[in-house]
Amino acid sequence: MDIQKTIQDLREELNQHNHNYYVLDTPTISDFEFDQKLKQLQELENQHPEFFDENSPTQRVGGTITKNFNTVVHDYRMYSLDNSYSKEDLLDWENRIQKVLGNVKLQYTCELKYDGASISITYENGKLQRAVTRGDGFQGDDVTNNIKTIKSIPLQLKGNFPERFDIRGEIILPFEGFEKMNQELIEIGETPYSNPRNTASGSLKLQDSSEVAKRPLECLLYFIVGNNLNITTQFEGLEYARKWGFKVPKEAKLANSIEEVFDYINYWDTHRHQLPYETDGVVIKVNDFHQQDELGYTAKSPRWAMAYKFKAEQVTTVLESISYQVGRTGSITPVANLKPVQLAGTIVKRASLHNADQIEKLDIRIGDSVFVEKGGEIIPKIIGVDLTKRSSDSVPTEYISHCPECNSELVRTEGEANHYCPNFYGCPPQIIGRIQHFISRKAMDIEGLGGETVALLYNNGLVKDYADLYQLKVEQILPLERMAQKSAENLVNGVQKSKEVPFERVLYAIGIRYVGETVAKKLAKHYKTIDALQSATMMDLILVDEIGEKIAQSVLEFFENEENVRIIERLKEYGVQLELVEKFNPNATNILEGKIFVVSGVFSMFSRDDLKKSIEDNGGKVGSSISAKTDFVIAGDNMGPAKLEKANQLKISIISENDFIAMIN
Ligand code: AMP
Ligand code: ZN
Repeated sequence: MDIQKTIQDLREELNQHNHNYYVLDTPTISDFEFDQKLKQLQELENQHPEFFDENSPTQRVGGTITKNFNTVVHDYRMYSLDNSYSKEDLLDWENRIQKVLGNVKLQYTCELKYDGASISITYENGKLQRAVTRGDGFQGDDVTNNIKTIKSIPLQLKGNFPERFDIRGEIILPFEGFEKMNQELIEIGETPYSNPRNTASGSLKLQDSSEVAKRPLECLLYFIVGNNLNITTQFEGLEYARKWGFKVPKEAKLANSIEEVFDYINYWDTHRHQLPYETDGVVIKVNDFHQQDELGYTAKSPRWAMAYKFKAEQVTTVLESISYQVGRTGSITPVANLKPVQLAGTIVKRASLHNADQIEKLDIRIGDSVFVEKGGEIIPKIIGVDLTKRSSDSVPTEYISHCPECNSELVRTEGEANHYCPNFYGCPPQIIGRIQHFISRKAMDIEGLGGETVALLYNNGLVKDYADLYQLKVEQILPLERMAQKSAENLVNGVQKSKEVPFERVLYAIGIRYVGETVAKKLAKHYKTIDALQSATMMDLILVDEIGEKIAQSVLEFFENEENVRIIERLKEYGVQLELVEKFNPNATNILEGKIFVVSGVFSMFSRDDLKKSIEDNGGKVGSSISAKTDFVIAGDNMGPAKLEKANQLKISIISENDFIAMIN
């Protein structure tokens, strides 16, 4: 059997499935089958590192860490767009064009203006070479490793593509994925992201590309640049891009006159709320490339294109009351209850008021007529008060001083915007929230137990903390509302089964503030037992890769609390996994004990991840950047010149992968 061909075929097949799923939205195999095939490819690639390809679908999961993004000069400048806000603006624009071109008949390509972060991607011989952010338009940051994890971006093109070109597009985060990300943050008691655009653009500069891979980002393409492209119009360019495998929204339309442009604008002004992603306007481009050339550019934007911005939709309604919600971590969020009103395609009843400062700044009072706007944010915002409608007997809003749930006096830490209820162990929503987090899917994933049942158990005095779950008996649960023998048994069995959940997930489940899934993994791997973590000092903690002072402080505070320590002791007694169970590894040694390695470049015998694993299996440590503490740099092909210089400066031994293999043998 020809291994290379098998690998090649699998890659092609997986590329096509990625395309079907992420670009065409019509998968033809199940996720399970896809994962099986990907695993098969990964195994073959591991066994045959000589066929490594940086554009293989297996590389989409990320894993590279970039500390500093290299600056790259764009071959073709990335311009801004001029904005227009009315049809008169657009008519003026058309007049200016007609003056330059002499009254010719014009066609326009109309596209939606996608609201995200722009990117320029270079392809050579059909392979993705490089992806660079817009930066200042002349030069941007090389974010190739992160961009490759976005599954709707082809790593290998199909059909008849030009030898070399740049394609431009917008990295966006569709609403659905954004809300899911926020849901997960809320579950672990962290502040949700404020809008999809900032989250998308922030994602491009994350250091760990496997974090980017987890975000449901997409890339919508809108422009091709290069030499000898054999493309004559913008609209044709979009169609080509689609054929080569890019995601080009089908909403783009060719308009034969400025009136047809207006029709397009009118249509999307009212229908944009049905799109799965955010748009803040329309981009209108002169279709013909010769005409575009004749029109040229101003100092900052093309004369042949114009953005038309939609107005943010605004309504007035009445503030009926303010309620205060208590989160799992005790943080208080004020919520405005509004007289229901239609806005941007939905009925709005509530709006976030963020915190006490916001209320004070707006001087917002019960009974006020308020302006509500739906802009980039999903939750509508109150942007002001109509003072002309304020009644003479209105009184300033006084922020609550005590918890609406447990009546404890609220605290506000200096420098923090939110008030907190400090009654960690006595405030019902905090207790219930913590247990709900404990049982959630990514934590202990307890089958047969849901969030509402947790509240029911708490309200009936059966659990006061998550350790109590392990003492529940069928007879105790049976009398509860809507609880049958079978479901009671399932619940108890589910709880017992969770004793098999590995340490890293338990560590996430116990709900230490700021310890999300990834941090929990890092800590579990580093400390291996809860006891070791518990006795770690500030100094120890911040030496762990990617653990900062904020997280370290929170870990310390967690274990300073006697109640927490008691609960952990009880979990231990019940048999919950509080130690890492290391899989037996026949290759493991401690030859490299005490040595710190930094891995740089591309290797032929190992993938980077395997190389790192091999270092750790043999007792060594992997550092993320070169410092005086580094003992060895293992250099592959294409090691960055800056790294090389730094290693030389610090007189650190630079070794090849062969040297490394010799070392561990
Ligand atoms: P501005 O940032 O307001 O100067 O607008 C220019 C930006 O709009 C470009 O850099 C692109 O990132 C973005 N944009 C979004 N959709 C499109 C589109 N369909 N065509 C061109 N640019 C677009
Ligand atoms: Zn409280």
